[in-house]
Amino acid sequence: MAGRDKATNQMEEFKSSQGSPDILTTGIGSPVGNKNASQTVGPRGPVLLQDFVFTDEMAHFNRERIPERVVHAKGAGAFGYFECTHDVTKYTKLAPFGFVGKKTPLAVRFSTVGGESGSADTARDPRGFAVKMYTEEGNWDMVGNNTPIFFIRDPFLFPSFIHTQKRNPQTHLKDPDMFWDFISLRPETAHQVSFLFSDRGTPNGYRFMNGYGSHTFKLVNKEGKAVYCKFHWKCDQGIKNLSADSAGEISGTDPDYAMRDLYNAIAEGNSPSWSLKIQVMTYEEAERFRWNPFDLTKIWPQGEFPLIPVGRMVLNRNPKNYFAEVEQIAFSPAHMIPGVEASPDKMLQGRLFSYSDTHRHRLGSNYLQIPVNCPYNARLKNYQRDGPQCVTDNQGGAPNYFPNSFQGPVDDPKWLEHMDKHSNGQVGRYNTADDDNFTQVGTFFNKVLTDEGRENLTSNIAGHLIGAQEFIQKRAIGNFAKADPMYGRMIQEKIDKLKAKNQNTSMQHTHL
Ligand code: NDP
Repeated sequence: MAGRDKATNQMEEFKSSQGSPDILTTGIGSPVGNKNASQTVGPRGPVLLQDFVFTDEMAHFNRERIPERVVHAKGAGAFGYFECTHDVTKYTKLAPFGFVGKKTPLAVRFSTVGGESGSADTARDPRGFAVKMYTEEGNWDMVGNNTPIFFIRDPFLFPSFIHTQKRNPQTHLKDPDMFWDFISLRPETAHQVSFLFSDRGTPNGYRFMNGYGSHTFKLVNKEGKAVYCKFHWKCDQGIKNLSADSAGEISGTDPDYAMRDLYNAIAEGNSPSWSLKIQVMTYEEAERFRWNPFDLTKIWPQGEFPLIPVGRMVLNRNPKNYFAEVEQIAFSPAHMIPGVEASPDKMLQGRLFSYSDTHRHRLGSNYLQIPVNCPYNARLKNYQRDGPQCVTDNQGGAPNYFPNSFQGPVDDPKWLEHMDKHSNGQVGRYNTADDDNFTQVGTFFNKVLTDEGRENLTSNIAGHLIGAQEFIQKRAIGNFAKADPMYGRMIQEKIDKLKAKNQNTSMQHTHL
């Protein structure tokens, strides 16, 4: 139909692909004679309990919702492939990087973080950027964001941090005191907050932003030699952002803006792509690096650790069904395959536990059997059995214990993880609030941002921070000023101006 985009026309497209309608059935596949009326005693009721056609549908409807993701609830998914374009086998034996030209199927989910499943796509928020590669050595998930860093560096603070992004426990409203109170009490947040309130905090849809693995990972090659690594997905479409005003306007007129844009682009054959690059740091360099290389609030300067090209990701298929393939897709940083391993990064270590844990709650203990999550390119053989909703053959008659004398699957030392020597010191709880929190923020403010970028950043912060109490404002501004006195000054000036404007407006109202 003219004037309607592919997303809006989806039902029409289904109709044209269908020919004639199928015969309706119940959940057990038995044909249904009348879908317009429940079975009743006489035309006025009551309804009969024997009406399985009705109770089957109603009972299923009552159970349609699964728990929403606590974070990253609103998201869009797509499918495509990764193609290796450069030889990086000297760093890693990762299957998708096996040889130049190799293609590996993949799934992606982009998301906002703090909002609920129905929230606006254009909210100022980091964007989730999760990639699942279905390799012959298992499914590898790279579960990152559109920023190379994060607000905190210790996972123990994560639940509290997210609570401040969500709703006030009594009012169920967003609360500017909660957010800025936490942010200003934990100064390591200054770097990511500066990204969040810069122009890149409101990307123009999911197609025009970079992605990052964010954490430091370990790459291991065929000889068993390891290096540390950061992953970067550079957007081939170029970066495009929305101004704060247009992001706000779109959140009212089309809250599903980013999801619609991605769906339509792919449906029209306009496949978005990203180039994968890595930064590599040797163990010796990690020892000497002036910052903790495992600190998720810091980047590795690209001048010292240049980007090395690896390949390209192309998204060319929309989900056939949103719930089946996007709501149920389960990413976990713990889903790693030979060639990539965890580094000591505390945030990564925390996430290695929490993602799989939340999927077991959200989708059940057999979540890896769901088609979109199952390692369909690998041969799954293990000693896991049973559990709710086991929908495979449960590995048939193969032994369910190890060791055994009956040809059950066996381990092979060729797949052993890289052996690391950890000499990080004494066991304890180390509060890292006083690490260098500001040098990189200063570089970002001074060297990366343009004059216009600095203006926008400080206006965006002032416009939000003004909602918090004055003592919180002072503490937050004090932190930004530690990165650069001008940074703090610009925010303070803008807050003062906004306050004066608000005062004038309220005086005018009083006169009226
Ligand atoms: P570089 O100049 O080599 O890299 C700067 C990076 O900043 C580029 O990756 C660029 O991404 C990105 N960038 C540009 N504008 C913005 C913005 N408004 N918001 C977020 N990122 C932006 O310098 P360094 O590597 O030495 O890093 C200097 C500072 O740049 C860091 O302290 C950090 O604050 C910031 N940064 C660094 C990144 C890294 O991985 N090294 C990545 C992102 C930011 P692009 O090429 O896509 O334009």
